[in-house]
Amino acid sequence: MYRPHPFSWVPADGARHASSDTKPTSGYPTGICVATLCGHQLIADNTELAWLWDTCPDCNTAAHVLAEVPMPPAVGAR
Ligand SMILES: [Zn+2]
Repeated sequence: MYRPHPFSWVPADGARHASSDTKPTSGYPTGICVATLCGHQLIADNTELAWLWDTCPDCNTAAHVLAEVPMPPAVGAR
């Protein structure tokens, strides 16, 4: 099955994290424990509101590395 990147985004513990755990077709169900790219074991919260949480900065950095995409320069950086 085609998978564009070796990780998926998962809302958990108040932020949007990324995980390389195998993801069910319908997404990580609420209550499942996932290993996030920032090195934590968190309980997924797959609710509509949860997707509006801020992206975990550590997971964002790790995701860019895995996707082989350079991080965009920080806002305001010169
Ligand atoms: Zn994270």
